[in-house]
Amino acid sequence: MNNDAAERRDEDCVFCKIVAGEIPSERVHEDDQVVAFKDLSPQAPVHVLVVPREHRADVRELAHQPEQLAHVVAVAGSLAQKLADGDFRLVFNTGANAGQTVFHVHAHVLASGELAEGEL
Ligand code: 5GP
Repeated sequence: MNNDAAERRDEDCVFCKIVAGEIPSERVHEDDQVVAFKDLSPQAPVHVLVVPREHRADVRELAHQPEQLAHVVAVAGSLAQKLADGDFRLVFNTGANAGQTVFHVHAHVLASGELAEGEL
């Protein structure tokens, strides 16, 4: 993890804890910028969350980091290709009134298909 990610950690944030490995998750991808893991309460056969390592509240904040935002979208696309047929819905709930419950930006990747057990 780079220093910036550590600096942007929120001690009370559940996704910061998942990124740091302090809360277990079923990871399907990780790199120096993002971690992707299965949603605890899946709403589709494939439902993963792509989460930047750096703590930012929502996609409005992430829009100030266009390279990171583009990387989140690219990872979503490659996961949909790997775990489903390549087609997917990408959802950023933004703000409590829009259903956001975890205030660490995350892209919901929703697709048909089966997650292969243990596949990374
Ligand atoms: P939001 O409602 O903020 O757009 O989405 C938050 C998502 O995070 C929900 O779909 C919820 O199921 C998922 N979630 C919340 N806590 C955890 C957790 O500890 N682990 C995992 N894997 N998913 C979580």
